[in-house]
This record gives sequence, C-alpha cells and structure tokens, in this order.
Amino acid sequence: MIDQKRSSEEFIRESSQLSMPGDGPIRVLLVEDNRADYVYTRALLRAIDDQRYELDWETTYSAGKRELMRGVHDVYLLDYRLEDGNGLDLIREAIAAGCQRPLILLTAYGDDDIDIKAIRAGAADYMMKGEFDARLLERSIRYSLGRAQTLKALRLSQERYALAVSGANDAIFDWDLLEQRIYFSPRWHAMFGMQESSETFGTIEKWLGRVHPDDVTRLQRNALAHLKGDTPHFECELRVLHDNGTYRWVNARGLAVRDEMTGEATRMAGSVTDTTERALEHHQLRATLSSMVEGVVAVDNETRVLLVNKVAARLLGIDEERAVGRPISASSQLVEVNQMLARTIKEWRELRGETHMSPPGQAQRVIELRAAPLRAAQDDVSGAVMVLHDITDLRRFEQLQREFVGNVSHELKTPLTAIMGLTETLVDDANMPLGKQREYVSRVAAQTERLHKLVDDLLALSRAESLEPRLEDRVPVDLRALAHESAFAFEPTAEAKNISVEVELPEAEVLVEAQEELIKRVFDNLVSNAIKYTNDGGSVWLRVQSHGNQALIEVEDSGIGIAPEHQGRIFERFYRVDKGRSRLAGGTGLGLAIVKNVVLAHYGNVSVESGEGRGATFRVQLPLMI
Ligand code: ADP
Repeated sequence: MIDQKRSSEEFIRESSQLSMPGDGPIRVLLVEDNRADYVYTRALLRAIDDQRYELDWETTYSAGKRELMRGVHDVYLLDYRLEDGNGLDLIREAIAAGCQRPLILLTAYGDDDIDIKAIRAGAADYMMKGEFDARLLERSIRYSLGRAQTLKALRLSQERYALAVSGANDAIFDWDLLEQRIYFSPRWHAMFGMQESSETFGTIEKWLGRVHPDDVTRLQRNALAHLKGDTPHFECELRVLHDNGTYRWVNARGLAVRDEMTGEATRMAGSVTDTTERALEHHQLRATLSSMVEGVVAVDNETRVLLVNKVAARLLGIDEERAVGRPISASSQLVEVNQMLARTIKEWRELRGETHMSPPGQAQRVIELRAAPLRAAQDDVSGAVMVLHDITDLRRFEQLQREFVGNVSHELKTPLTAIMGLTETLVDDANMPLGKQREYVSRVAAQTERLHKLVDDLLALSRAESLEPRLEDRVPVDLRALAHESAFAFEPTAEAKNISVEVELPEAEVLVEAQEELIKRVFDNLVSNAIKYTNDGGSVWLRVQSHGNQALIEVEDSGIGIAPEHQGRIFERFYRVDKGRSRLAGGTGLGLAIVKNVVLAHYGNVSVESGEGRGATFRVQLPLMI
C-alpha cells in the first residue's frame, strides 16, 4: 500500500530525479571478494562501451552495505558469496532500508534456488557467474535500470493519485459493475461522519440506503442514462445521510469504463463533492427571493436571465423555470423592462422608472422599476439586477389622500364662505333692520355649527384610523347602556319627524372591550342616519344581541333605502348618495367612514342590507369580551 506519510515535497524532489542515467556515465558498484571477477567484469564493461560505465569495487558485505546506503551508484552487482555475509541478505537489507536502485545478484554454480529467492527479495535480475558475456551483462544492466525506472514511475503515479485523493475535498468512488461493489476513498467516510475504520468497499444498495428518498429516482435515472451511453458523463446533485442524522448536499460525477469489444460499461469511477454550504446558500437565496414582496430579476451582460423570483415572473408574465438562461426579451414583452436592463449594463449605472403592467387575468398595476449593475463576488458574472415594486396601492392611496384633502377643503370652505358673506353684510349694512340682523346671526350660528361638526368628525375619523395600537385605553363596555343613551339623545330629533324609535335589548349584559367614546359614536351615527334618511312617520329599530362569541348591533329603518350600486361606497369618506339631502340634514359624509374605522379597529365588521325605497339595516359585529 502507499505510504500516506510521505510528504509531498519528498515526492516532488524524487519526481524530478526520475531520469535514466543517460546523460552522464552509468556508475556501477561491484561487491565481490574475488579480484579476478572484478577484472573480468571491468573488461566486459569496457568492451560494451569504454566511456559509458564507471565501475567501483568493494570486497566485503559491510563495505557493500555502506555504499548501498550512500546510494551514489546507479546499478549494484552483488556477489552471493562474500566473506562476511551473502549477497541475498545484502539485497534484503537494502530493500528493507528503502533502496530502490537496481540490484543484480551474481550467483555461482550450485547456489540452488538463490536466483528465485533474489527476485522475491526484490532483486532486479540475477546472473550466473562464468555464464555471462558483455552482451548479457549489458542487457541485464539495461533491463534493471529500465525496470527500476518503471517501478519508480508507477510508485510516483500511485503517490500522486493518493496525494490527490487525500488532499482534495472530494471523495472518490469506483463502482465495479461486474463485481457489484464500490470502492470508497477515506475522504468518503469523513464526509458522512462514518468511522475511519468503516469498510472500504460497499454495495450499491448500502449507498442508496443513505440517499435522500426524494433524490433516489433522479440518481438512478442519471446513472443509468450514462451507463447506457446516453450522456457524456454522469452527474447528479443529491442529498446523502450523514451519521449525525442530517443530510449533506453533494455533487456526484463519474465516467464509465467500457468493454472495448461490447461497449458495455464495466465500471464507473468518479468523485463526490460536498456542496452543502453552497446548496444552503443557494436555497437560502431562493427562499429569500421567493418570499420577497418585490419582484427580482437578474440578467447577465447579454440580458440572459440568471434568476427570477415568483413575483417578477408573475408581473412579467414569464415562466420562472423556462426563462432562465434565455434572453429576457425572448420571454417578456415588457419593452420598458428589457430596455432598462440593457441600458443599465451599457451605461453601468442605476436607473429608475415606472411602468404600467397588466398581468394576465389582473387589473392594471403600477410598477416602480429600479435597475442596478450587477457584479458577482468572483467577478465571473456581470449584468444587471432589477427590483420591481408594485406601487398600485400606494398610488391609489395617494390619489385618495389628494381627493380627501380636496374634499375637506371644499367642505370647510362652503360654511366659511357663507359666514364671511353674512358677517360682511352685517358689518357693511348699518341700517339693517333688527329682524334681518337676527336672521343673519342665526345663519352664521348654523354654519359655525356645521363647521364644528365637520372638524369634530374629522378628528374622530383620524382617531379611529390610528386607534389600533392604543389597545390599553380599552375598557369593558355594556352595549345595552350605549344603545339606551343613543336612543335617548335622538328622541327629540325623532319626535320632530314623528318617527318611532324602538329599542330591543337582551336581559344579560353584552360586554365588549372598547374605547367607549368611539363605540358611542357608532351608535349615534347609525341612529342619526336612520332618522335622517327616513321620512316623517317612519320607524327605527335599535337592537343589541349576543351571538356565540360576537356582539351584534342592528339599526334598522323604514326609510328611503340605498340602491345596491351605492352600498359598497357609502363607507368611503365624503361619499353621499344624495349630497343635497345629506347637507340639509346636517350630514358631513364622514359618519359611516367613522363607523367602519372604529369597528375595524375593534376587530369587528360592519355591513348593510338595503334596497332602494325599502329601508336599510346596518349590522355591526364586535367580539364579545371573554
Ligand atoms: P352623511 O353625513 O351624509 O350621512 P354618512 O357617512 O353617515 O354621511 O353616510 C353616507 C351616505 O350613506 C349618506 O349620505 C346616505 O346617502 C347614505 N346612508 C347612510 N345611512 C343611510 C340610511 N340609514 N338610509 C339610507 N341611506 C343612508
């Protein structure tokens, strides 16, 4: 097995030394106690090439060993029989000490089996003394040198592979399809938290057992497609169970090895990269983008869609999945969007704009567009990112606000103009008869009263609209008491129009948690409207009930009623069906808007049931106090 502890520097140093001693002379050491054999060997080497070989000579085992350890020679010729030992032991000792130079054993007649033992011990070759000539000696030396070089190259390549495997973050697998087993590199076990000692080989079933159930089919499909030769390589993003019970995201890639004759895959080897961090980032980004209220679309510098979230896809009317990778203009018909993205990339600056869109099946929306140049952290992608913000509601709100201010000004101005006109006339006309003066002053008083009511209603409305956060001001209120008070307060008005007001209340109290003053306004506004919009001699009913966990207030009248087309709008500020009638009756057009806002702020709801000329019933539901 490969020695994992060998450092990479050592490995690189050795790699660079890996060359045939072809440039300089080949240094040969002969360990031989017989001088005649030395002389003979030297003669043979000279006969081959008198420049090429440099022969050194040692006579003893110990001297030979010393030289072997120094390792300055390219080839060693070791005699078997030495005075202080034998060549075979010398070979064993040298190999054990890590010697990788070619060692050739010289044996004599009668040294039975020594040749075989020498090869087993690691000798490159052996020669029988007296039987070799220059040609044989040269061939043996060349063969030994070549063999050593091949072995070294093999060892280096194994080490290179081992270094790559242990150094990389990837786990390596090698799936033998014939034997039905998979080899896993050590990194594999670390990746999934398995014991280091876990078996190196596993079965496909075991490995599939760790794969997330949702990913099994995809993994099998991808692997099969490649094994069948449908894809150039195998690749699959999947989740694999870690021993700590969580799943890791990995990217598995592999390449099949095929039988040359049949073309059938016999093996598939590849790597597995832990992409959990990246996958998490990716999923987080996707989750963030998909939960955003704004639309987001990013394109590369050729306006090809890099990503698009759901909102943007809906607004742009494009298919989220299919748009990715294609130019945005191929998917979206919105010229403003496409042009702004292209301009952002060209001018490399932020751009803003507004556009109208009609997403399929929806009303027209107003969209604010903001585009900015995009440069990815790694600098490998550039393009533009655009945020699409639906500002339809904001624009509608602004419009309502403008209308409201216009309405308020108008409503305030009418009585003010009247007051100014009346007072001016009073001041200017010194001779005005007393009766006329009285009449003018009382008209000023009426207009002042109207102004007062208007300002009062505006304040109530603004309080109701900002009520929700101030829950602490709420107290238990018995709705029966408020109903009584309201009926009592409007008795004179009702009597003036000969309208009967009937109050129907339960025995038990009906408690809600509320801001009393505002709920009182709800009663007053509904009762006053019922009287206002009911002709002389009609009837009004005021009821309070408990229904389950809800309190119900019902104000019914036998009045003029409200046509269906107005019913949805009467709760808007300043909306009146008949302006003249409302004004004559002292209405401001804010009463029902106040009712609605107060009720909503108390987690209730209000509705109306009516028809033109058929009276009206207003119903308010409020949660009962628990
Ligand atoms: P106003 O001050 O004009 O009464 P409200 O906001 O209270 O303003 O009501 C808005 C409009 O709804 C009224 O102008 C009127 O046209 C209609 N309305 C309200 N209550 C009734 C009702 N009980 N019967 C018929 N119409 C009503």
